[in-house]
Amino acid sequence: MSRLIFEKSSPGRTGAYKCKSEGKSEDALSFIPEELRTSNPPDLPEVSELDVIRHYTRLANKNMGVTSNFYPLGSCTMKYNPCVNEEIASMDSFVNIHPYQPQSTVQGALELMWLLEKYLNEITAMDGFTLQPAAGAHGEFTAMLIAKKWFKDKNENRNVILVPDSSHGTNPASAAMGGFQVTQIASNENGLVDLNDLDEKLNEKTACFMMTNPNTLGLFEKDILKIADKVHSKGGLLYYDGANLNATLGLVRPGDAGFDFVHVNVHKTFSTPHGGGGPGAGPVGARGLLAEYLPRPRVKYDGEKWSLDYDCPNSIGRVQAFYGNFSVLVKTLAYILSIGKDSITDVAKLSVLNANYLLAKLKNIFAIPYGDSCMHEFVASAEPQSKLGVKAMDICKRMLDYGYHAPTVYFPLIVKEALMIEPTETESKETLDDYAEIISKIQLEIEQEPEKLHNAPITTPLRRLDDVSAARHPNLRYEKRL
Ligand SMILES: *Cc1c(COP(=O)(O)O)cnc(C)c1O
Repeated sequence: MSRLIFEKSSPGRTGAYKCKSEGKSEDALSFIPEELRTSNPPDLPEVSELDVIRHYTRLANKNMGVTSNFYPLGSCTMKYNPCVNEEIASMDSFVNIHPYQPQSTVQGALELMWLLEKYLNEITAMDGFTLQPAAGAHGEFTAMLIAKKWFKDKNENRNVILVPDSSHGTNPASAAMGGFQVTQIASNENGLVDLNDLDEKLNEKTACFMMTNPNTLGLFEKDILKIADKVHSKGGLLYYDGANLNATLGLVRPGDAGFDFVHVNVHKTFSTPHGGGGPGAGPVGARGLLAEYLPRPRVKYDGEKWSLDYDCPNSIGRVQAFYGNFSVLVKTLAYILSIGKDSITDVAKLSVLNANYLLAKLKNIFAIPYGDSCMHEFVASAEPQSKLGVKAMDICKRMLDYGYHAPTVYFPLIVKEALMIEPTETESKETLDDYAEIISKIQLEIEQEPEKLHNAPITTPLRRLDDVSAARHPNLRYEKRL
């Protein structure tokens, strides 16, 4: 392994070109008052500019991202994020404004958020959106607070949230954090919500049924109108986990399908970079009177100027500082406008086409427990491979050796040895063909030399990490070896 940048340090070596005139560097610091200067300089590596460039290039090459590798991580929608979004979000007029500036000086920023809210309303058939939530799970939690206050104001004691057994893990977690009890609804043999089980569990204690459509098996819940009627007839709310709108963008609107409120993950569908804990945004929309419960302030326009409206008496209050993750919102609007109204349905159509193309190519290798066709993603099972002693995780690790990011693995929980694959609309047929070919090659290895799979990955900077220790006992501190 190459040495760390700290270990390359050599006293007095510097990356900056020395100022020619004597004493210049001292002058440069003179604006820092004497008493604020430290007498112990920080222990930073002393290295040349070339060392620094090589350091960062080496780190960047260790990274696996959409810009370097095919990344079919199901449920996460790792589509390509066009550079133009970044370019726009880094414009001076966005980067150099401060949320405490008087509203009259940030009219453009307010207009941008107002406009984005209008677009999200149109796309989802809602009546209002908050842009505050910082991620999908945060959006769900915001929605739970809205449901709580809604029923409290109606003097109804409803404390149960229903979630399908295929639901994303954040759904029950957000419901529990909102102080609700969680009840699971079974899936039927087709991988869709079991209406009989729903009938049994739906009652006057139900606050909300939280579901995603297409569901996490990549299947469209075709009984959605029936489900909406059932939930509403018992006085409950229907919530849409719209983390992934990729399959339906511009074609099906949650509000038209009977959903009362929704969140969308702009870092998935609307193409803003995510992963590694980076910033996202999970705007929450609501219909009718429920929209009055959205967090405040809301951006309002009186025909002349934009302003922040704090006069929202039913609002649950704030869920995030300032405007939310503003630069992510800039990228979202840039993406929506650059795709345009006429092409936005292409995103949905192509993502569904790509997923079905790949499904057709892989269905002879993996088992496909639910559905013959899919929406924007599909869930395969490596059960046939596990009979040969190779687990889904081994296959994922081997994919890394061939330069492909692994799909989502072991989710949803109702599929054994699950591999959840989402190619997204931004990939070409050639990339999908190459990927399918590599999977056939891996299948041959499984049959002929399975130990290769057990030892994978062999080409990555680190081999098999202890995932549990890495998550539970992370050691992020560098200690200098003397
Ligand atoms: C990603 C995802 C979430 C959670 O979103 P985060 O932004 O990661 O908090 C919720 N539901 C579904 C279906 C998702 O795919």
